[in-house]
Amino acid sequence: MGNGNKNVERRLPSWLKRPMGSGEKFNRVNAILAELKLATVCSSAGCPNRGECYSAGTATFMIMGENCTRNCQFCAVGHDAVDALDSDEPRRVALAVEKLDLRHVVITSVTRDDLPDGGAEHFGRVIQAIRWQQPSVTIEVLTPDFQGSTECLDVVCEAQPDVFNHNLETVRRLSGEIRSGADYDRSLAVLNYVAGRGQHPTVKSGFMVGLGETDAEIKQLLQDLRNAQVQMLTIGQYLRPGKNNHEVVRYYRPEEFEQIKKVAEQLGFDHVAAGPFVRSSYHAEISLQEKKP
Ligand code: SF4
Repeated sequence: MGNGNKNVERRLPSWLKRPMGSGEKFNRVNAILAELKLATVCSSAGCPNRGECYSAGTATFMIMGENCTRNCQFCAVGHDAVDALDSDEPRRVALAVEKLDLRHVVITSVTRDDLPDGGAEHFGRVIQAIRWQQPSVTIEVLTPDFQGSTECLDVVCEAQPDVFNHNLETVRRLSGEIRSGADYDRSLAVLNYVAGRGQHPTVKSGFMVGLGETDAEIKQLLQDLRNAQVQMLTIGQYLRPGKNNHEVVRYYRPEEFEQIKKVAEQLGFDHVAAGPFVRSSYHAEISLQEKKP
């Protein structure tokens, strides 16, 4: 695991170089998203896996607009005025799932603190539209915290996503600085609440390393997530999306991710994906298949 070294490595290490996307499938995904006027977090957040995912015919849809009411230090999503919700968006997302022939779809969103329900109903409508159009598709939602509202969480869960994902993002000490408007304990409470519901989906969370956390803080975060009954976990390297974002404090080597993964597995998570390029929805379909029954 990391040693909390504060020396910033300014050049990307060799293991963090990624090919740009290209090819027929990559172009096809781009064309379908443009035609249906849909946003993906892959593009909006400058995800380093976009080339690989698009080329493999997968994408993570980002609903409720491309501007967020929060301003997290690690995030590249826009912060201009938010748009009114698009009532036709659920239909178009479902159509895109069909056109892209997806078997597993990940739906995420910006945070919409301006909406009375944080967009929970809209999440539900998107899930229902996909189910109606493609009943065999498994659906994963990566949601905001809905300011901890259990009513909003109920609305999302009643639409029956297969996986409920909410990211803890970073260790407790850094949470206030890195995650605007969010709260470490509130996120844990969200995860614990969903895990504790009667007919609950699989509960998943994730966090980044490289923001200045220590080994001890990572271990505590892992324990906190287990205590919140989280079953699936993703751990990836933080990469600075722009000069206005938080600096990278350290690049973890691939073998260090393996060490963190081992610690997490010993704590009893059903599935742990850890590596420099692991993101919440990277290989999400494979992760769900690999998860212990
Ligand atoms: S809540 Fe934070 S991480 Fe999520 S989209 Fe908004 S700014 Fe980005």
